[in-house]
Amino acid sequence: MKVAFFDRDGTIIEDYPDEKWTRITSPAFLPNSIQILKNIQQSGYEIIIITNQYLINEGFITLGQYEVITEKMINELTKHNIQIFDIFYCPHSRTEGCNCIKPKTGMIKEALVKYPSIKIEQSFIVGDSTVDVELALNMKMKGFGLGVGDAYQEKNIIQLHEIKDLINYI
Ligand SMILES: [Mg+2]
Ligand SMILES: [Zn+2]
Repeated sequence: MKVAFFDRDGTIIEDYPDEKWTRITSPAFLPNSIQILKNIQQSGYEIIIITNQYLINEGFITLGQYEVITEKMINELTKHNIQIFDIFYCPHSRTEGCNCIKPKTGMIKEALVKYPSIKIEQSFIVGDSTVDVELALNMKMKGFGLGVGDAYQEKNIIQLHEIKDLINYI
């Protein structure tokens, strides 16, 4: 299967400064993100979310808070007939030295073990942070940087100004 690996915060739903996340109880979908997820799904991709949640182990949010927001997000997407195939998250703090925090490759490798039918060369990563782009580079995968700037000129990295532009490349 081919997979669209999506970052969550700042790509599908709104991101906030770390301290503000403490008070967030519901996801706020970014403009066009639901539509693009639908388009991606209709193009035959499974959607897997990979998200750094150092907020958990750094004490900004609890695991429970993370789970509530995730559940609300999935419920809203289900209403739009969008199925999220799986979600991988890294709860570790930035100083823990884990192997899953993006741009490290742990979450993608975990997905590849869990789903051996993933065809990595037909899959891609999209996200709004340099770590998402660097993860694509580390995996030698196609990557889309959402407003990440033009610091990455490698041929497998494409800059998007808006998430809806992704449809032009799939
Ligand atoms: Mg992000
Ligand atoms: Zn981790």
